[in-house]
Amino acid sequence: MAAAIPSPLAVSSRSCLLPCLFCHTRPHNWKRIILPFPTDSPPLRRAALGVFAHARRGFSFQEDDYASPSDLKFVPPLKIVEYPDPRLRARNKRINTFDENLKKLADEMFDVMYKTDGIGLSAPQVGMNIQLMVFNPAGERGEGEEIVLVNPVVQKATKKTLLCNEGCLSFPGIFADVERPASVKIDARDIMGARFRFNLSKLPARVFQHEFDHLQ
Ligand SMILES: [Zn+2]
Repeated sequence: MAAAIPSPLAVSSRSCLLPCLFCHTRPHNWKRIILPFPTDSPPLRRAALGVFAHARRGFSFQEDDYASPSDLKFVPPLKIVEYPDPRLRARNKRINTFDENLKKLADEMFDVMYKTDGIGLSAPQVGMNIQLMVFNPAGERGEGEEIVLVNPVVQKATKKTLLCNEGCLSFPGIFADVERPASVKIDARDIMGARFRFNLSKLPARVFQHEFDHLQ
């Protein structure tokens, strides 16, 4: 089952295996996390910047920003969407319907994530353009803590940053060093629709920020 409220200290023993802090090599049991865009690929990076600029210009909370029943409809099993699928760049709508369908979708996303050796997954990566992400830094079903975030917003980010090598299920075979804030303060809703705020650091902060990029 997908736990809704993460613990700020939810760091599994596997987190020490993350190739982080200027480490450029990957351990043999490296779990793939989600890379927004491969920074070592100039064409992709330029395209990514264009998408980000567009997303910010178009940002608002109008009625059509909320997902309709058809936006939330899915047929399992879900499959990973890979670049250059346009769904990876489409606008992701906010969610205001918290029901059994949404819980089922989150469970299905965890299934795909574990099967593909991921530790995080965003909804657009399974072709759903909605503000939903799941992650479990442990990367194994039954271990660590499963986290589901709906409509997440970053309230604060530390000036201190860390460099870490990331991969992405939607960009198979591509890895790149990505610099991100070491800790972030987040505002989100859980799978039941309850609003909450919390701080993330270490591996959970890294995974969250990667997934969050997919939702912008
Ligand atoms: Zn990714």
